[in-house]
Amino acid sequence: NAKLPWVETIESIVTIMKTGNLNKKIYEERDTEVGIVARFFNYLLEMLKEKNETLKKSNKSLHKKAYFDSLTKVLNRRGFLEKMKYRPYGDEYSVIIADIDKFKSINDTYGHDIGDIILSEFAEVIGNKIRLDDIFARWGGEEFVLVINTTNLNAVQNIADKIRADIEKVKFTKVGKVTASFGVSSFKASNNSFDDVFKNADEALYQAKKLGRNRVYCY
Ligand code: GH3
Ligand code: MG
Ligand code: MG
Repeated sequence: NAKLPWVETIESIVTIMKTGNLNKKIYEERDTEVGIVARFFNYLLEMLKEKNETLKKSNKSLHKKAYFDSLTKVLNRRGFLEKMKYRPYGDEYSVIIADIDKFKSINDTYGHDIGDIILSEFAEVIGNKIRLDDIFARWGGEEFVLVINTTNLNAVQNIADKIRADIEKVKFTKVGKVTASFGVSSFKASNNSFDDVFKNADEALYQAKKLGRNRVYCY
């Protein structure tokens, strides 16, 4: 069953067109004009593969830049809100807002660079505590948000207080002891959005600050 010239070359072109598989090569007929054309196609395929790889890499790094905070490496607000969209536990969640106490005076006393280090270390302490389902992010400045998949306010208060106690124990670079205040709020049927739950947690945080800081307050 001798094949006509070009047939194998055309067959392999058709295969690539059908599958879109760039890893396939076009059959290069030996010592013919079509063989030279096929070799040129293979060269283009290689180029296309390389460009694809470069694009994939730059997409990945763009995604990282868009969704992660470059200082602390945790999710930024945009990344947080995106992840919240796909949370698997629906409305069964609570929000903890953590805000470093008197952070401005840390900056004023030790400088902005040390302030940055404290922020990273702070995020790391909490980051090491969280579970797979939790969503943890830097909300902005020295404020972090943590979403836990339960509406059991007591349980969440305990989690927040464990984190608070952990922070208090850590010896931060240069500064030593750093404390933070926590506002906690759970989703309730009367709240109809994350914004409501967050607002309540923020109000609780305000109370925690007013009552003397380094404490957890539940809405
Ligand atoms: P409180 O206990 O009431 O929360 O007081 P605070 O000083 O922590 O709060 P305040 O909002 O007065 O100050 C927050 C400071 O955080 C001010 C701002 O310059 C600083 N800050 C925000 N983002 C960064 C950052 O990325 N790096 C550093 N080093 N400082 C930051
Ligand atoms: Mg603060
Ligand atoms: Mg703040």
